[in-house]
Amino acid sequence: MGRREPKPVILAFGGYDPTSGAGVLMDARAIAASGGHPVAVPSCLALQSTATFDRVVPVSRDTIDRALACANLAHRIVGVKVGMIGTRAAADALLAFLDRHPGLPVVLDPVIRATSGGALLAKNALPAYRLLLLRANVLTPNLPEIEKLLGRPLVRFEDGVIAARDLSEDTGAAVVLKGGHFAWKGKRGVDIVYDNGTVTLLSPPRKLAPRDAHGTGCAFASALATRLASGEPLAMAAAAAKALVAGWIAGGFKSAEGRWTLS
Ligand code: PLP
Repeated sequence: MGRREPKPVILAFGGYDPTSGAGVLMDARAIAASGGHPVAVPSCLALQSTATFDRVVPVSRDTIDRALACANLAHRIVGVKVGMIGTRAAADALLAFLDRHPGLPVVLDPVIRATSGGALLAKNALPAYRLLLLRANVLTPNLPEIEKLLGRPLVRFEDGVIAARDLSEDTGAAVVLKGGHFAWKGKRGVDIVYDNGTVTLLSPPRKLAPRDAHGTGCAFASALATRLASGEPLAMAAAAAKALVAGWIAGGFKSAEGRWTLS
């Protein structure tokens, strides 16, 4: 008990997507592929196929509390990756857990809306969600997510650098603004890392074909949390996470419904 474990044990806290295309099953795949050992607690069930979204089924506060206690009893958790929260009960349960583990590093992927347009965060969860943003060490928004968090549209690449700085100053977290979902003019797929006043740009692998794969944000943040827990600096960990996701996009396949699936 209390012993160091040979692999960094990372807690994935997010929605359960039965297809493993996103959510905690995808997180577990990315944590394992990055050299970590995953434990996972579902914030809610995000029932979906690769092409359709059925519904969000809540998990009770008591169940989440108990699941967190089980994972924490079993292993010495050294990092947390937060994805879809869904409900206020889930946000409150995670906040309470993190309050009991004040030194635990948190990478939070701000999942607010599905690409399909469905709301992935209940309105009454917003106050607790804001506290989670303040508790996070690293935030990994994409362009629509940072626009929503800051409440303003971003057009030029330079706006992205300023936005990453502003979000970092608002929350106290480092920010990795992902460029994969959109093309800044002439800078397709460049990620902006803002860490304590230093900006690092991460370029995509040249040959990457644009494929609208779901779950890239989940995989990226999970790989990043695992690399950080292994002691890598943020920009290096983000570059490794980006390479993992690029490989999974390149190696992806079309599901039976005809949707790109990371593999
Ligand atoms: N987590 C869950 C459970 C989801 O259902 C979704 C999207 O539908 C996401 C996260 C966000 O996925 P992405 O990695 O594409 O941002």
